[in-house]
Amino acid sequence: MYRTHTCGELRKEQIGLSVTLAGWVQTVRKFGSITFIDLRDRYGITQLLFGEELNKELVENPPGREFVIQVKGVVAERASKNPQLATGDIEIKVTHYTILNASITPPFTIQDDTDGGDDLRMKYRYLDLRRPAIRRNVELRYAVGRAVRDYLHQHQFMDIETPFLIKSTPEGARDFVVPSRMNPGQFYALPQSPQTFKQLLMVSGYDRYYQIVKCFRDEDLRADRQPEFTQIDCEMSFVEQEDILKMFEGMVKYVFKTVKNIDYTDTIARMTWEQAMWQYGNDKPDIRFGMTIGNLKSAFRLSADAAAWMGGKSGIVATGELINGAGFGVFDNAETVLAIAVPGCSEYTRKQTDELTDWVKRPQIGMQGLVYIKCNADGTFKSSVDKFYSEEKLKAIAGATGAKPGDRSLIILLAGREERTRKAMSELRLEMGKRLGFRKENEFKLLWVLDFPLFEYAEDDNRWVARHHPFTSPKPSDIGIMINNNPVIENAEKYLEHPYNDIKANAYDLILNGNELGGGSIRIYQRELQEKMFAALGMSPEESMHKFGFLLGAFEYGAPPHGGLAFGLDRMVAILGGSESIRDFIAFPKNNSGRDVMLDAPGTIDERQLEELAIKLTNVGGVS
Ligand code: ASP
Repeated sequence: MYRTHTCGELRKEQIGLSVTLAGWVQTVRKFGSITFIDLRDRYGITQLLFGEELNKELVENPPGREFVIQVKGVVAERASKNPQLATGDIEIKVTHYTILNASITPPFTIQDDTDGGDDLRMKYRYLDLRRPAIRRNVELRYAVGRAVRDYLHQHQFMDIETPFLIKSTPEGARDFVVPSRMNPGQFYALPQSPQTFKQLLMVSGYDRYYQIVKCFRDEDLRADRQPEFTQIDCEMSFVEQEDILKMFEGMVKYVFKTVKNIDYTDTIARMTWEQAMWQYGNDKPDIRFGMTIGNLKSAFRLSADAAAWMGGKSGIVATGELINGAGFGVFDNAETVLAIAVPGCSEYTRKQTDELTDWVKRPQIGMQGLVYIKCNADGTFKSSVDKFYSEEKLKAIAGATGAKPGDRSLIILLAGREERTRKAMSELRLEMGKRLGFRKENEFKLLWVLDFPLFEYAEDDNRWVARHHPFTSPKPSDIGIMINNNPVIENAEKYLEHPYNDIKANAYDLILNGNELGGGSIRIYQRELQEKMFAALGMSPEESMHKFGFLLGAFEYGAPPHGGLAFGLDRMVAILGGSESIRDFIAFPKNNSGRDVMLDAPGTIDERQLEELAIKLTNVGGVS
């Protein structure tokens, strides 16, 4: 037997017991005729004591860091205890020692604070995974996956596998393709998600489906994106939006409780997409803090819903009447002017406001500068645009953000093109929230964002694309607009006026602390409406038959009403683990250029393989 116990297991109760342990050498410390070794495995660290006898053997066969050794010995009480270690009360008085395998010196230290840079850690990921910090992440991921499976099993969901070698499933990214040797010149696509399969399973009557599944999207990478990532993919039949929201609120709360012992008893907040855009500048607001956006001027179209909602909020005006015509060209000429009130910052020095100006001018934020108004404690206002605006006007502008005279807030205003300004303001709000400590790591706030637009205009292609995916159903009240309007429009200028802009989807996203945990929709399940949808996206009937004939066909054989959603497992685990980046929560991730630096993939393939696949390479970066 290689071991009787693990390195995390022994306590005071086992003092006197003869044990055998096996593991990796974390550290070796010599003190004259005795030596201490910390032995590590997945479960923890146990201190080994080599007395005089065995010390000789250690001199002859010294173990280095990361050697795999086996020891037999007796559990003894430690003279100086280590309260940091679960096994810190005991040590093993070693009687037998065997080296099971040697190790060359590892390229970085295997401990929480490692000296290995990202590239080195990825190249030797099998060593990196030995580090307790990463191991805890892998364990957390397993715990989340297990809780999800438990919950879904309790609610009659079945885990059903779907294929990886398929035809394109549009989720808005490029497909990874796989050449088919048996069908020369033809390619499979790897699924961007199992979307169409889970819908077909609904047609087949498997009314509660889930799968923890890899999805593949060939898109430009950011810190929190991976070309292959894992979704908790779910679908249900005979449900309305409300049924789905309830079911998956339950799941997320169950995960919180099981994995983090957090009782999330609050009602989960809900907000429409429009409200999120107006108030927070993006569709995944972090609602752990307020500091909502005051809209002084906007090119954003006010829908009837939004108008009603905005009217109810005092001081919020999007027409520009508060700021236009004062002779301040930056505001007069801007498409959009937005403001936030940063609490308690009216005493910012010149240096501090300059630093903020530099911050918004960074290329990632892309503003020309900022304007500020200080709501001084004595009730006066001081602004960088005093010249143009009277004290009364400044007070009214400040009021549009909810600030009051004398409340010591610093109002920051940004102006420019709608999309960029709104995005910049959203980033600035998050940044100030972070600086002021409002984004607490141990606070979790969930939010449903509802009623997304069904379509989105792709300026580059001059056409409408599905904002979620083409299988999402419009709100029942908007179906009429879709059926009765000619989808194809000739030029981009017209799109703001186009009725498609008004169609809302039965789509929802679940947001946690400003991150999208998951999202989904109620689906189209009638052939005619699905055909309309494809037509709206500019597909000819032939093209939709060619691409999605199987789905349109299936809808003619008794397709039930259905809907679902998918959660990003990697991100969910990263957030629960208190990290922004998903990479450390994936055992074998890719780097920012989509490479696996350990495998050195992707790589070239040899001539014979290419020939078998009937593929001829054109000159790619020197490789032909
Ligand atoms: N397939 C969708 C996605 O990957 C999720 C869903 O609609 O269920 O985003």
